Amino acid sequence: MKTIKQSWAEPYKIKMVELLKMTTPKQRQKALEEAGYNTFLLKSEDVYIDLLTDSGTSAMSDKQWAGMMLGDEAYAGSCNFYHLEQVVQEVYGYKYLIPTHQGRGAENILSKILIREGDIIPGNMYFTTTRLHQELAGGIFKDIIIDEAHDPENEFPFKGNIDLMKLDVLIKEYGAKRIPYICMATSVNMAGGQPISMQNLKELRAMTTKHGIRVIHDMTRVAENAYFIQQREKGYENKTIREIVKEINSYTDGATMSAKKDALVNIGGFLALNDWDIFEEARNLVVVYEGLHTYGGLAGRDMEAMAIGITESVNDDHIRARVGQVIYLGKKMIEYGIPIVKPIGGHGIFVDAKKFLPQIPQEQFPAQTLAAEIYLDSGVRTMERGIVSAGRKANGENHYPNLELVRFTIPRRVYTQAHMDVIAESVARVYEKRKEIKGMKMVYEPKYLRFFQALFEKA
Ligand SMILES: *Cc1c(COP(=O)(O)O)cnc(C)c1O
Repeated sequence: MKTIKQSWAEPYKIKMVELLKMTTPKQRQKALEEAGYNTFLLKSEDVYIDLLTDSGTSAMSDKQWAGMMLGDEAYAGSCNFYHLEQVVQEVYGYKYLIPTHQGRGAENILSKILIREGDIIPGNMYFTTTRLHQELAGGIFKDIIIDEAHDPENEFPFKGNIDLMKLDVLIKEYGAKRIPYICMATSVNMAGGQPISMQNLKELRAMTTKHGIRVIHDMTRVAENAYFIQQREKGYENKTIREIVKEINSYTDGATMSAKKDALVNIGGFLALNDWDIFEEARNLVVVYEGLHTYGGLAGRDMEAMAIGITESVNDDHIRARVGQVIYLGKKMIEYGIPIVKPIGGHGIFVDAKKFLPQIPQEQFPAQTLAAEIYLDSGVRTMERGIVSAGRKANGENHYPNLELVRFTIPRRVYTQAHMDVIAESVARVYEKRKEIKGMKMVYEPKYLRFFQALFEKA
């Protein structure tokens, strides 16, 4: 007897739908020109399937929506704050909570407190807003991710790992005193949603304890990282996502969180700390930049939705379907022969634009070009993660990242498997005519985080 395959399916059913607008190629061409070939500048109403980001685009559950009605909009001491604080302590294991309007609010406060002029901040690959806040506070970011992470072909299962030798070199060169903390991200976004292993974290903790260096956790996608640990790391196959998340956090001293990702809300974030003194300073600064320490730029209802979302995000069935959908799309693309970053990451598919469009030099923005072509084909919106996102160094020169990628980020609980099929087919169509595609030139360049607002023309 043949064994019948056991499929997974979404652990929810649909209670309300949002209608999508279909567009013609002519409409899309016009929209693209008006947006300066930058998918960030497209109007959402001109987009069919929106994979620009998984940030703030999740579908909330009925329980979260019900929680919105329980918003206690008192200026001080909202009961939703205390609920959120309790959930952060119970689920994540951190002691003190400062809510912020989103992740970068937490990054700003943390960087201002811990970084002094000339300090070194090692991290497992940069993230745009994180590095910028470190630099604005006078710090210098140093990439200490393992080399495998920069190679889209390498199938190492934990490409988010930190190279402890690289860290050791930095400690010897600058001294531990000039390293206020290590910025450790789970599910490394810029590497393609690649996880860090528990083993690596334990070794990092041992080494940083020896030198008296803090580990601050960018925990934006910690549950997705926990899923990969459960699937791939020996000794964790029978642990729950909740247990694994808590263990990850136990090797760190604090965290910045963009709740717009893992935590299934449309807006929100926080800074979580175990050290009272840093917390006290953060509580002072949050009043300057965000709002009172019991709301941090959020409405009471936002904090309630976040508290419920955090609990749902560490549910094993939820995370298996979430990452399962991403893997489904990745496998489809591989079947069509499309070059993608492997292994498939937790929050999206990253197409290797250098391989896809080898005729376009990096100065002519292959990933930016490819994102525009895919939109033109089907109305699927993706984004560039390559030379445009990498920006310029302090001396004005371009960063030339090894990875020149187009990111297909999947919002949580929003699209169906049929949408995934449509997306893969569109990329396959563009792949068929890849040889005819020409590069672009940048005609407007903003000073900070240029990828958001830069304008392009066909070269
Ligand atoms: C989104 C994100 C941030 C910044 O958070 P915002 O909520 O967008 O301000 C920081 N780190 C990582 C890894 C992220 O993905």
